[in-house]
Amino acid sequence: MPSPYRELKERAWAANQEIPKRGLAIYTFGNASALDSARAVVAIKPSGVAYEQLAVDDLVIVDLDGQVVEGTLRPSSDTATHLVLYRAWPGVAGVVHTHSSYATGWAQARLPIPIYGTTHADHLAEDVPCTAVMSDEAVEANYELETGAQILRCFEARDPHHTPMVLVAGHGAFTWGATVEKAVYNAAVLEELARIAFVTRSLAPSAARLPERLIRKHFERKHGTHAYYGQPPSEVRTLNNARAGKR
Ligand SMILES: [Zn+2]
Repeated sequence: MPSPYRELKERAWAANQEIPKRGLAIYTFGNASALDSARAVVAIKPSGVAYEQLAVDDLVIVDLDGQVVEGTLRPSSDTATHLVLYRAWPGVAGVVHTHSSYATGWAQARLPIPIYGTTHADHLAEDVPCTAVMSDEAVEANYELETGAQILRCFEARDPHHTPMVLVAGHGAFTWGATVEKAVYNAAVLEELARIAFVTRSLAPSAARLPERLIRKHFERKHGTHAYYGQPPSEVRTLNNARAGKR
């Protein structure tokens, strides 16, 4: 009998494949998950399976408490962290975790990524935040759950929809989005921002942050109420129809 979660698993599988394809992980590092909010289930990568061996049916379906609903493999060991974010943030339907090199470099240095330029401001209007280092008690309690709690604490005064990424100190990166496709896109964007910021700081250790006016300008032309980057939806439809030979 075909799985009722086939489409969700296909989307989560495709997002997981993007992780090595975009150079964000080797071997089994990293994981992506997709939420079906109507059915309150998540499709997530199984633990310890290499991307090139990953089949759509290997994806594990869990409920928001982490109980396996469908699948024979164990879900990713990071599942509890993904679920903390889904439970806390309505509208987030995709989460990605990687140890991509440059983002992890900043996380290990325990430094937020400064907003040095407009590439960064096109995607978020502040530095990429870095969590506090986890306490010994938290590590011993429930590590993956505590990682989620650490991220939530870092976002107490932040909007996760405006800043869809975080560095977990000493560990790596988590990104998210309204879809799993957007979450993995944000993982690739984060790695690029981390790389550009590393080059900037290497060339000029005291480089200044982008002036606030430029930050606002770039962020709002893409994400503000008067956004004008790209094509308006009606134009995109006309273009697509023209390309498909329709009028
Ligand atoms: Zn990790």
